[in-house]
Order: sequence, then structure tokens, then C-alpha cells
Amino acid sequence: MPDRSPQHTDQPLASATQPTAAREEVPASSGRGTALRQAQDGPQTAPPRGGDAQRCGGEHCDLLVIGSGAGGLSAAVTAAHLGLKVIVAEKDPQVGGTTAWSGGWMWLPRNPLAVEAGIHEPIEEPLAYLRHELGERFDEARARAFLDAAPQMVQFFRSQTALRFIDGNAIPDFHGRTPHASLGGRSLCAAPFDGRRLGPRIAELKPPLPETTLWGMGIASGAELRHFFNALRKPASFWTVTKLVLSHWKDLLIHRRGMRLVNGNALVAALAASAFEAGVDIRTRSPARKLLRDGERVTGAVLTTPDGPVEVHARRGVLLACGGFPHDDARKAALLPHAPTGKEHHSAASRGNTGDGLRLGETAGGQVATGGLQAAALAPVSLVPRADGSFAHFPHLIERGKPGLIAVTRRGQRFTNEADPYHDFMQGLLAALPAGEPVQAWLVCDHAFMRHYGLGAAKPAPMPLGPMLANGYVKTGRTLAELARVCGIDADALTQTVRRYNTMALKGQDADFTKGETPYNRMQGDAPFAAERGWPNACMGPLERGPFYAVRVVAGSLGTFAGLRTNAHAQVLDPQGQPIPGLYAGGNDMDSMMAGHYPSGGITLGPAMVFGWLAAHHMATPATADAASPSSGRHQKPGEAGSAVSLDGTSPHPH
Ligand SMILES: Cc1cc2nc3c(=O)[nH]c(=O)nc-3n(C[C@H](O)[C@H](O)[C@H](O)COP(=O)(O)OP(=O)(O)OC[C@H]3O[C@@H](n4cnc5c(N)ncnc54)[C@H](O)[C@@H]3O)c2cc1C
Repeated sequence: MPDRSPQHTDQPLASATQPTAAREEVPASSGRGTALRQAQDGPQTAPPRGGDAQRCGGEHCDLLVIGSGAGGLSAAVTAAHLGLKVIVAEKDPQVGGTTAWSGGWMWLPRNPLAVEAGIHEPIEEPLAYLRHELGERFDEARARAFLDAAPQMVQFFRSQTALRFIDGNAIPDFHGRTPHASLGGRSLCAAPFDGRRLGPRIAELKPPLPETTLWGMGIASGAELRHFFNALRKPASFWTVTKLVLSHWKDLLIHRRGMRLVNGNALVAALAASAFEAGVDIRTRSPARKLLRDGERVTGAVLTTPDGPVEVHARRGVLLACGGFPHDDARKAALLPHAPTGKEHHSAASRGNTGDGLRLGETAGGQVATGGLQAAALAPVSLVPRADGSFAHFPHLIERGKPGLIAVTRRGQRFTNEADPYHDFMQGLLAALPAGEPVQAWLVCDHAFMRHYGLGAAKPAPMPLGPMLANGYVKTGRTLAELARVCGIDADALTQTVRRYNTMALKGQDADFTKGETPYNRMQGDAPFAAERGWPNACMGPLERGPFYAVRVVAGSLGTFAGLRTNAHAQVLDPQGQPIPGLYAGGNDMDSMMAGHYPSGGITLGPAMVFGWLAAHHMATPATADAASPSSGRHQKPGEAGSAVSLDGTSPHPH
């Protein structure tokens, strides 16, 4: 196999961690001078579409990013800070993809916020955790690349861009029984972001998924969410919620949308603001339809824009970040055994994520990896009727672990630990169902639970429950037997299951599925409320007084895991394992380094941010520039890399 990698040189390039003003000036022909001027001159408007650009054979940049979620924007912002001229093409009318709907949590072990709080751990600790979790699928090269770069990526973004983080120092890994699991310090969330910083361009930001908001207001996880649950029980919570709601209504009046952005919406807003400020040219309604190639090298893409097709030529590389294949029925049918036609899998991911990136990558010789344990980040999803006749896909991430809820199949039996992570919950359901049976279960609770925590898209008191009963989303019965009949569940079995569960809940021990025994379970529970009621287990309370309620959940996901095979620089690999020159993948277009496992919260957004940062550094190396130059005849051995200098003067590239 010919060696097609670019030549390694040891000349440092401007670091993405250096302030813009301190960066070296470079010849405009490299593209870096242009970007540097753009960054210094402030935000740029997009160059005219079509027109001259089209007449002279398209437009030119250093990096073309396809997709504007975390995977794409991390690379775009980093590359712009490294002096590259960057264009981001987005298919949707707004920026942000699934990332804008997400919790915004990123698994980033050894991050600076943890270190500053005194949580120090050697790289071997998270590595060992991953090794235990992933078993034979553990890819040490990529895991080390990720863990090496994660702290540098965080330091770059928090010191050089608009993105700020809040710590996850009390957030445990998912599987507390696995050796080297952490009790906290391995994750971060995007800090709340003031949407006014985006100015009129806030209109380009995708709002949160409406069903997960209160009148369009996102609710941050953790303390803020607890205030909402306790709003009718505790004066301090009532006051906090009242202030948040009043401020949101004020924003609605003035700006016609909420401006206090939280979770994944804050992440995208901060990344988009950083991109605009660094001169990145983001184009919405511009899906990439085809890759341009010069021999084996990928040199750009054809975008379908509102003004017609435009060829964008990218000197250093094209990064595919289209968010995987959550809405590509053909690929779902091929890779998800529980979805024989693809339609049986109802992903909560953004609807524009129809597998374009994977298909584009394949046209250039890339391969979609199929060896993972699961091809998607599974989650139970309920189908929420909307006024226009469509259904929102609501992922059940929060209420399953609270005391007073159980999940049963149509046989009326529990099948797993309801407080376990969503991916595990779904694996438990898939394992419990006979082959060929539709993948569905019911989350069941009593009236007190429903009004305290809500159930899926049905919100707690004082929000009215009536509309969700009227549209059939929530099923109800005065007794468990009546509820069972409405849902098509075995009534005797459900009654017996609840009786047994209630006994276990009062003892605080789940003899069937050990609910409440891991740190993650307990975090998902509600220890103060359980204690008030005299329930010894933070995740277990009896289902006592009717009316009882149920919501049906089906197979879904937060996104997909199977993606284009890449190396530690995020370069897409051909079937022989060689990098395809000029082609990179990010976010869920990249095969997940977790190989279908789900060891902790944030394991898609964390790697999306880190590998985007790594890809940008790789593209910015002189070696990559040389290789991209038509006059260059130099080659690099596989595994060699360029040498962009990073935060602490070390190479950001893995070894
Ligand atoms: C409710 C919810 C909560 C979640 N919470 C978390 C969390 O806290 N932590 C975590 O790690 N993960 C979380 N996830 C999963 C996470 O959001 C996704 O895995 C992640 O956002 C994927 O990022 P991405 O950049 O690959 O794709 P996206 O953010 O989906 O962006 C892809 C973009 O590409 C665009 N696109 C598609 N095709 C084209 C094309 N041909 N041309 C141009 N653009 C195109 C899409 O329109 C989209 O905007 C959550 C998911 C959901 C649904």
C-alpha cells in the first residue's frame, strides 16, 4: 500500500491556545493570512453566494466543515484560531444539530476544573476504566489520544473562546462497580450562555427541543432541575423558579425567545459565537451533496445552497460532521437488529441527521465500522403527539431513577434496573423481549409521583396534565388493573409486580435488579425526598394511590455510534487502514471510540469536542499543508504527525 500520509516536520505552527494577536502573520496564499485578518477585523459577513465565486470555479477555504454540531464547530473554531480559513456548511435552517438539544455534558477526564478542585488522577485511571468497560473492543491509541488532548482542548476553549464550563466534580461514571470508575471529576457541562451575545444571529441558533422545555425555557440539570421538582414544596425553590420564569417571559416579550441558554443549547451558542468572532463563515440551508476529489485526495464538496449549487474547495481538508445516521432507515435496518426496516428505531436526534456524512465518506473510500457492541447510543423514547399530527421523540433520561416508578413489559413484569443509564435500560429491555416482539415497555407511576416529577413530556404540577391525557400520550386508570387493560398489559401480573415492588421499596432493597446500589443510580434518585418519606433507597418508593399512569416507551437513541473508521487525528481511513488524504470525520460521523459501550455520561460530546480540536491541529500542521500542495512530492510514514504547539508547549498529537 503506498504511503500517502503527509510529511512530518518539526516546525511549530501557531497554537490554538495562543491569543489571536500574538499569532504569526503568514502569506495569504496559505489561507491563514486571510483568516487572521478576518479574526482581527471582527466578524465577517458571508461572501456573496454564487456570483463571482461560482464564475471563477467555486469558493476556496482551508477547511470545509460539513455539519454544525459540536463535532463540526469544535474543529471550525480551533482551526480558525490556528489561522485557517474555515467554511461551515449546515443543512438545516439553523445551527446546532442534536447538540443544541442535548444535555451539553462532556466526558473529559483530567480536565482543568477537576484539577483546580483538587481531583488529580493519572491518565492510567480513566484508561483502565475504559479498558475494563470496552474489553476486547478497547482501542488504546484512540483512547490515549483522547485522554491526552482532553485537558488541552478544555483549556483552549475556556481561555480563547466564548465557551465556559461548569464542573461535573460530583458526577460519577455510569458503572460504579467497574474497576477504576470515578465518583466525579471526569465530566464538564457548558456553562449557561447569554444569547444576547449572538446579537441578531441568535436567529441562526436552533432552539432546544420544545418538549424538553417549559414554554421554550431550557432547564439546567442538577440544582436548577431540583428546584423545579420542588417548586410547590419549598419556598426557596418556588422563588428560584418564579424568577427564572419571569425572566424568561421577559425575554419572550423582547426577543421572542429565551436568552438564558443552558445545556447543549449553551454549548452550541458559545461555539457559534466563538466561530463568528473568529471569522468562520457558517452557511445554513447548504447541505453538502458530493465530495470533490483530486486523485485520492478529497479537495472540497458541492453544496446545495439557496442560490444553487456551489463548489467549495478546501486546501487542507474536509471534515464530515453530519451527526451519524439516526434518521437513515436503510443504515438503521442494516446495523440495528431491533429495527428490521429502520423505522422501528425512533431516535431523539435531530431530524436532519440522515446519514449523509457516512455516505459521503464511503464515496471517497471510507468505511463504516460495524464491530461495536451497539451501533447506537440507545435510549427509551416516547412518542409525543404534536398539534400538526407529527410525533416528537422524547428521550427518558431523568425520571426513571426517581422513587416511585417502575418499568414493565406487556407481561406486567419488570425487566431491568430503571435507574440505570438509558443505554443499559434499553439493553435490558432488548434482552428481555422474545425475538420479533415489538420493542416497547411502559413506565408506570402513581398520582403523587406524576405530580411531583412528571412522566416524560408530561410535566409536574402545576402544569396541567389534562392535555397529555386527552391526546393519549399518558394512559391512566383508577386502579392498576384498569391501567393495565388500557395499555394492553397483563393486569394480574402488573398488580403482583407492584405489590412485590412496594414491599421491596419500603425495605429499600431491590432484590430483583439492585436498584439504587451504584453512585450513578443514587444521583439519578432523590435521596432528600425519599428520606422525608422514610424510604431507605433514593431510587425506590411504593406506588400507592391511584389514579395510576403509564407512558409507553419504544426503541430509540440519543444518536449513533457506528461511523467512519478514523485514526487518532480523526483522519478517515480506507479499507487498508491508510488515511484518505484531505478527509476527516468528527462527532457521530466518526466511529465512536467507545465501540458501542456507554461507560459514562458525555461520551459522545466529549470525544466530539476533542477529536474536532485534534483534527484542526492536524490540518494546521505544515506537513498537512505540504501534502495538500500539488507541487509536493513528499510523504510521511503512517503514524507520523505534524507538530502544532499546544497550550503547554507539547504536541497536541497523540503518539
Ligand atoms: C435529549 C438529548 C440529550 C443528550 N445529552 C447528551 C449529553 O449531555 N452528553 C453527550 O455526550 N451526548 C448527549 N446527547 C447526544 C449528543 O447530543 C449527540 O451525540 C451529539 O450532539 C452529536 O454531535 P454531532 O456534532 O455529531 O452531530 P449534531 O450535533 O447532530 O450536528 C450534525 C449537524 O449536521 C447537519 N447535517 C446533516 N447532514 C448534512 C449535510 N449533508 N450537509 C451539511 N450539514 C448536514 C445536521 O443538520 C446537524 O445540524 C444527547 C442527545 C439528546 C437527543
